[in-house]
Amino acid sequence: MMRAVVFAIALVTIASAQTPPRRADMILVNGHVVTVDGAFSIAEAIAIADGKFLAVGGNAAIRSLAGPSTTTIDLQGRTVIPGLADGHLHDAGGGPGVDLSHARSIADALNAIADRVAHSTPGEVIVSNSDWHEAQLKEHRLPYRADLDRVSPANPVVLVRGGHEYILNSAALAKWNITKDTPQLPGGRITRDHAGELNGELIDRAKSLVRLPAPPPLTIEALQEQHRKLNAAGLTSIRYPGAPVEQYRLLQEMRRRGMLTIRVNQLLRLNADSGEAMRAAIAATGVKPDEGDEWVRIGGMKLGVDGGFEGGWMREPYAEPWGGHGTFRGVNTMKQAPYTDVVKELNRLGWRVATHAVGDAAIDEVLTAYEAANAERSIVGKRWTIEHGFIPEADQFPRMKALDLVISAQDHLYLAGPSLVNYWGPKRAAWTTPVRAYLDRGFVVAGGTDSAVVPYSPLWVIYHFVTRDTISGGVLGQDQRITRKEALRLETINNAYLTFEERIKGSIEPGKLADLVVLPEDIVTCPDKHIEQMQVDMTIVGGNVVYRRRS
Ligand SMILES: [Zn+2]
Repeated sequence: MMRAVVFAIALVTIASAQTPPRRADMILVNGHVVTVDGAFSIAEAIAIADGKFLAVGGNAAIRSLAGPSTTTIDLQGRTVIPGLADGHLHDAGGGPGVDLSHARSIADALNAIADRVAHSTPGEVIVSNSDWHEAQLKEHRLPYRADLDRVSPANPVVLVRGGHEYILNSAALAKWNITKDTPQLPGGRITRDHAGELNGELIDRAKSLVRLPAPPPLTIEALQEQHRKLNAAGLTSIRYPGAPVEQYRLLQEMRRRGMLTIRVNQLLRLNADSGEAMRAAIAATGVKPDEGDEWVRIGGMKLGVDGGFEGGWMREPYAEPWGGHGTFRGVNTMKQAPYTDVVKELNRLGWRVATHAVGDAAIDEVLTAYEAANAERSIVGKRWTIEHGFIPEADQFPRMKALDLVISAQDHLYLAGPSLVNYWGPKRAAWTTPVRAYLDRGFVVAGGTDSAVVPYSPLWVIYHFVTRDTISGGVLGQDQRITRKEALRLETINNAYLTFEERIKGSIEPGKLADLVVLPEDIVTCPDKHIEQMQVDMTIVGGNVVYRRRS
């Protein structure tokens, strides 16, 4: 036994001594390579072989690794950074509904709806895509029932806004029989205007009063199309924060057929209100925790305990008039007892938990449940997360730290700043997603967008976190700014850490997966505004060019 091992090692040594040095499949030279390694080193050139970085260094050393069949890319001074990641991305937006993503005023939005009404049959339900927000409209408010009635008196209209909210016109309220007498559902809200009339807004679980036409089934082609859009923005890795097992099976099929152009980590989202129901739901999927490889991997279980912009669950009431005279504190979508039961069961089954929690009261609920699970079986080192974590309080940081949580943070404020000031008042809005505070307390923060709630551009995430600027509301929470280097880490190596992959990706170092982005300008030193406007030149995943900008 011993002798055989020694012999095998000797053979390997002889073989490697006789093999010429490994040739690169591709080299990139004359660049400004921001490696995002531990020392944040800068290099000139990169060699890639077998989908991994073979070497990183000076032009001459890298050129010496080229052979007759090596592809050479002359960067002409452009900047290379590691492939960018999004730790919380649902999809790339778009869809068959009315597109409101380009509307900049209430009139723009209503015109788009009127146009769809003109091309529809009597009684047909008009639905919008979800990738828009009222903060992008110059009025900084939602179009309400009365606005929608003006352009669609007869056809039911349902505006879908992000993941937490619908706005209905009168025909839609009538269709689903929603009146002033309809009782409020737990975990939801039917909103009223100043006069006490329904304004058409349904929040969180109140959305279940509406039955929308089934969306077209998700297909491989649709996923491929989305991934192409994400590649063009510089994304090489994404984490789907809660999707059904059917989507995971499509991604696995794409992996088998070699169709993936982006690395995917998927959190499962299952319908279960008790530990027992969760155990059964998991068994029905046949999926194991963390199964997969560097292309498609299961990253844990997604849960949620509160709403979004208009339903984040707070210790203190919302700003008026949203606060309903000090009574409205947001929406608690899953109560403590069933949530804790589910969390403990997931821990017993070896699943990592990622919970959507926006408000401070929601974070309280998450910490209580995670602590209960941790008391049974430690979760330290398992990288459980809080997704969003908008409004952490001083007393919560040490509790998060003791559980060794990772923070999955996004740039919601960039899009929704003025609305958050309305809902929560200026102080809470300015504190929203305090990345500086998290980093100063030693948390690993992974960046992302929550697309299609917020547009998927990773460069906008970097821009927002380094400036705290917003699309239409100026700078909010200037004291929470982070450095360019910190922001780059959020978008690269910290995301790799989030998915336990920091040893194989997230920086440009020999042996790591060859995922990178070519930028026209040095993102570490250029003026702030250039980051917001910058276009990606090229994206490479696993050594393959998946996007090249047409000049
Ligand atoms: Zn989300």
